Amino acid sequence: MKANRIHNFNPGPAALPLSVLEEIQENFLDFKGSGMSITEISHRSKQFDAVINDAMARTKRLLNLDDRFQVLFIQGGASMQFCMIPMNFLADDKSADYVDTGTWSTKAVKEAQIQDKPIKVVASSADKNYAYIPRDIRFNEEAAFVHLTSNNTIKGTQWSNFPDTGAVPILCDMSSDIMSRPLDCNKFGLIYAGAQKNAGPAGVCLVIIRDDMLERVPENVPTMLKYSTYAAKNSMYNTPPCFAIYTVDLVLKWLEETIGGLDKMAALNRDKADLLYDLIDGSDFYRATAQNDSRSLMNVTFRLPDENLEQQFVQQALENGLGGLKGHRSVGGCRASIYNAASLESVKALTDFMMSFENKNG
Ligand SMILES: *Cc1c(COP(=O)(O)O)cnc(C)c1O
Repeated sequence: MKANRIHNFNPGPAALPLSVLEEIQENFLDFKGSGMSITEISHRSKQFDAVINDAMARTKRLLNLDDRFQVLFIQGGASMQFCMIPMNFLADDKSADYVDTGTWSTKAVKEAQIQDKPIKVVASSADKNYAYIPRDIRFNEEAAFVHLTSNNTIKGTQWSNFPDTGAVPILCDMSSDIMSRPLDCNKFGLIYAGAQKNAGPAGVCLVIIRDDMLERVPENVPTMLKYSTYAAKNSMYNTPPCFAIYTVDLVLKWLEETIGGLDKMAALNRDKADLLYDLIDGSDFYRATAQNDSRSLMNVTFRLPDENLEQQFVQQALENGLGGLKGHRSVGGCRASIYNAASLESVKALTDFMMSFENKNG
């Protein structure tokens, strides 16, 4: 039976590749001849071992990670990483530099402050409602790390290049743009991403950690909040979120085998974003909210002339099979989240709709 699927621009959980969903469906009742669903088999089985190891290996290949890095799967979402990072890396009251680019990075700062860690916010774009990525930041050489949010899901901004922090490792929240472009791992001590935007379903956070960061983890952190626990036990100290990890593995397989890697994915993502930004820039009706040099290729945020039109836009889009276009409740306006799994065809359907909506209402 053919399902009635919409063009899905949800910010997260978000669209997954149709072929991945079909593969899940096809294998759901009998996983690899086990006579059980992936949701029923033991995490200690050889079948699940193969799944988690494959997901780790694909992550390493796709992101071109060298041997210093380990891939971990942790529950609690990206939000739990906000508190784990200071717990694990700011023992003995070391300081760290944080850059505040809105909502999620603000929350990361807050979780360090709750723990009374003497962190410094070295740059912020709060002065312009987070519409840009700060440049020419002076980082502290003695900082334990620099914390950045690579893509600001709600504000619609993204680091197009990461800053030079010298010998200080960058710890980066890549929840909404991991696997959207190739990565130079050399700058990073740790990368984390809630899977539900660009890498899979909700329920698991992908964490990539460099071995020297693991050595910094103090003894007196609770077992489940220590990165070293996950590293020592192949992310299976306790029961991992098996189904979420399985789905992440299928998404990574799709990236490698169907898309053809992150260079290809990045080019496609660029094409999709260009379609939308070109339309917005060429119109007096739509207005982009992020500054030109800071725009996100993943979350395209824009306004219409007034809130009433914005409401009608979101409503009529949905009636035309285009979902998820309402901006985050904290900022209003509209947002098209065009993660890896949003197809060029979906973006074209959106630009067609936007043109016709402007013609009727502009
Ligand atoms: C969605 C999001 C989060 C929060 O993720 P959870 O997994 O829900 O905790 C954190 N950071 C960024 C950049 C996000 O987009």
